[in-house]
Amino acid sequence: MKFSIKLVLSTMIVLALALGFSGFYFVNYVFETSLDREVGQALDESSILSFAFETAALNVPLKYSVLPDSVVEEIASKLEMGGQGDGRLLRIADEEKNILYTSNGFTADEGLLPQTDQHTKSYRVIRAQDRFYVHTCVAINALNRILYLETMKDVTEVFTERSLGFSLYRKVTLVMLLTGMVIMLFIASLLTKPIRLLTRATREMAAGDYRYRARQISRDELGQLTGDFNRMANALEENISKLEEEIEAREEFMGAFAHELKTPLTAIIGYADMLRSHKLDEEKSIMSANYIYTEGKRLEAMSFRLLDIIVAKQDEAQLMETPVGELFSYLREMFAEKKETDIRFSCEEAMVWMEANLIKTVLVNLIDNACKASEVGSTDGADRDVVGSDMAGVVEVSGKAVDGGYRIAVRDYGIGIPETEQNKIVKAFYMVDKSRARSKNGAGLGLALCAEILKIHHSELRIESKVGEGSCFSFVLAPHSNL
Ligand code: ADP
Repeated sequence: MKFSIKLVLSTMIVLALALGFSGFYFVNYVFETSLDREVGQALDESSILSFAFETAALNVPLKYSVLPDSVVEEIASKLEMGGQGDGRLLRIADEEKNILYTSNGFTADEGLLPQTDQHTKSYRVIRAQDRFYVHTCVAINALNRILYLETMKDVTEVFTERSLGFSLYRKVTLVMLLTGMVIMLFIASLLTKPIRLLTRATREMAAGDYRYRARQISRDELGQLTGDFNRMANALEENISKLEEEIEAREEFMGAFAHELKTPLTAIIGYADMLRSHKLDEEKSIMSANYIYTEGKRLEAMSFRLLDIIVAKQDEAQLMETPVGELFSYLREMFAEKKETDIRFSCEEAMVWMEANLIKTVLVNLIDNACKASEVGSTDGADRDVVGSDMAGVVEVSGKAVDGGYRIAVRDYGIGIPETEQNKIVKAFYMVDKSRARSKNGAGLGLALCAEILKIHHSELRIESKVGEGSCFSFVLAPHSNL
């Protein structure tokens, strides 16, 4: 059953009970009040009649010392005539409670007589021949006799009014319930609208439309729920698009990997086949073996880099406070033999949180790339020799404390990187100039490895470069409190 229908039904039940009970109480209250009034009038009337009877008894001739039964009947019949319409209904009984006089139509039984004595008045409400009466009984003290006067007052109208009241109230209740139901249906539809909108949104999302959002139309709890649902949907959409990007990147990676694998393997297989199927002269044999060796080396270098990336992705490196000076001394010694490039090291002494071996790998890669880009004879995309300035062949490796950590930069004045390529070179297997990179045993994996290592250090590679003017690769190592 729909929630709105449940809401309407439960409200209707509560409304019906409330109207029913209040109606019953109200009609009954009116009835009780009217009946009390009628009983009061009946008792007053019986008092007046008994007084009239006693007064009439005073006029009895003096010869009687006790009121005779015949006079009782006479007075009773006179009193009976005095009533309105068809007259009064009364009955007179003597001291022994034997009936002396009964009006025509007085149908009450004698049940009230035994309950009444000289000093009490009694009454009851009775039903006789489909009509209702207030039956009273009172004692009369007349000329040395104690008599009992019973009266019957017709109160059928009070009961009829009660029945009419109930029937009218039933109709009013029915009309109110129907009107209430229509109003409640409208209210329930308004109240449950946010639920309907949410349901629609969940269905749309389940069907694959992750951009669909539920409209927030209220500020109450349901409105908050809609807001929370939309926030959840945003997070979900973000995660899904991240996953899609990851899948795309993985596919790209696989494609590039297969391609990078194919090129050296084709060369190796080709030259090996030539060696085994042809009788080559010595020079050609050496050349073929050379190709096989260098391509094999390239494959080896590529597999090592790939392994490094996989390890860097999985490793939760142990960062330690390391003196930057030591790191720079290591690099200085390592590149001391590289005479074709002038590598200048300068750093501010500081203790920096890092995994020293991994940061060394990053810097070795960056310096290596900078050296390759600075080599005399390097050309830009348009094949112009760009290394001709004063700083040509110079690579600067610097470290200094900055806001938010310690910045290490590798600057070269080499060929530079076109702006459109700058955000792609960090991707695995990406090379700006493939043949040039391959000729230097590159496979486009160095910067991808650097990026993974820096991720472990909660940092990232920043690239500033201009074709023909050189490049600057830098990263900031955060202080321990930010890690
Ligand atoms: P590789 O192993 O080919 O050097 P990298 O991932 O280290 O792979 O670099 C990707 C590409 O980025 C290189 O092939 C090169 O074209 C370009 N590159 C990297 N560093 C520099 C630099 N300092 N100057 C110009 N180009 C660079």
